[in-house]
Amino acid sequence: MLSVPTISAPSINAFNPPRRTLMGPGPSDVYPEVLAAQAKPTIGHLDPLFVAMMDELKSLIQYAFQTENEMTLAVSAPGSAGMETCFVNLVEAGEKVIVCRNGVFGERMRQNVERVGATAVVVDNEWGEPVSVEAVEAALKANPDAKFLAFVHAETSTGALSDAKSLCALAQQHDCISIVDAVTSLGGVELRVDEWGIDAIYSGSQKCLSCVPGISPVSFSDKAVAKIKSRTTPVQSWFLDQTLVMGYWGNKDSGAKRSYHHTAPVNALYALHESLRLLATEGLENAWQRHADMHQLLRSGLEQLGLNFVVDESCRLPQLNAVYIPQGADDALVRKQLLENYNLEIGAGLGALAGKAWRIGLMGYAARRENVALCLRALDEVLN
Ligand code: PLP
Repeated sequence: MLSVPTISAPSINAFNPPRRTLMGPGPSDVYPEVLAAQAKPTIGHLDPLFVAMMDELKSLIQYAFQTENEMTLAVSAPGSAGMETCFVNLVEAGEKVIVCRNGVFGERMRQNVERVGATAVVVDNEWGEPVSVEAVEAALKANPDAKFLAFVHAETSTGALSDAKSLCALAQQHDCISIVDAVTSLGGVELRVDEWGIDAIYSGSQKCLSCVPGISPVSFSDKAVAKIKSRTTPVQSWFLDQTLVMGYWGNKDSGAKRSYHHTAPVNALYALHESLRLLATEGLENAWQRHADMHQLLRSGLEQLGLNFVVDESCRLPQLNAVYIPQGADDALVRKQLLENYNLEIGAGLGALAGKAWRIGLMGYAARRENVALCLRALDEVLN
């Protein structure tokens, strides 16, 4: 006879989340088709049908990133793990990395650099400004021994878009490997990995892809792969070591046979497959245009409400609209009323903008007319 466990079972009801409209910095509203895809039967992660689905997934990620990079896959963890994948695989202790910091996520990159024992040369820009191409050029000239240039394409903490094309061209001129954060940019604004010469890039499933959170698409150029292969020390992280992971994702070098590395999040990968399939069906250029159009609609409504944008028009992200909180408005109370009375989530300010700005997301499935209308009506009613 088995004895009863000493800790008794808690009595808890099934969790039933409400249906919210997510217009914050992410996660964004998930496509209904994606939620349905995730609910399909779980099959083995080495099942031939699953492996065939992964091949399709890889080509869909290649399309979204606009790359033919062979080392293109989905890390089984959120965007921060995609970031860490790039740094722990590429950068070795003692190497020098130029890191651009114009918000929270540039600072997170710097921390990654230091944790691998490398030296970060930080190029700072004010919050709300894009990365300065001139300042990066000066830093590259002053540091000829730098091996990497790392920056955030779309800074979610402020809503600023940086000129990835020019920055990567500079990295190439100075023989540096570029590491680009595309967590918020992928699917929402123009991004061309091969044409712009991006070497290492990571994104997240939960922003403009409108997939469930927790997966990070990544891609490495041949130059980046060569750097990984030339390492003199093993990658410190076993889980994120791309040379091991590729055995599962099946790159040419590892032979056709897939081998177990970790148990893939099978159903989350169905979801990513569906969200990327929807993006491919819409067409990247149409998705970029839809984000731009919805931003213009939201922008004119916000301006009519008297709200001012944090970021200058010239480098404003359509998918992340940071506006100053108007005088007299109670930040937390407004967001609470939006959530409770309208089931609408907008984002609080982060870091230097905490308590000063709201971040209104128009990401993926959320970039629709009805969302813009709901957000403007709700803000108007709550503020006036
Ligand atoms: N980089 C940027 C630009 C982000 O916006 C985020 C998340 O908001 C991350 C990295 C980290 O992604 P995650 O929260 O999925 O780990």
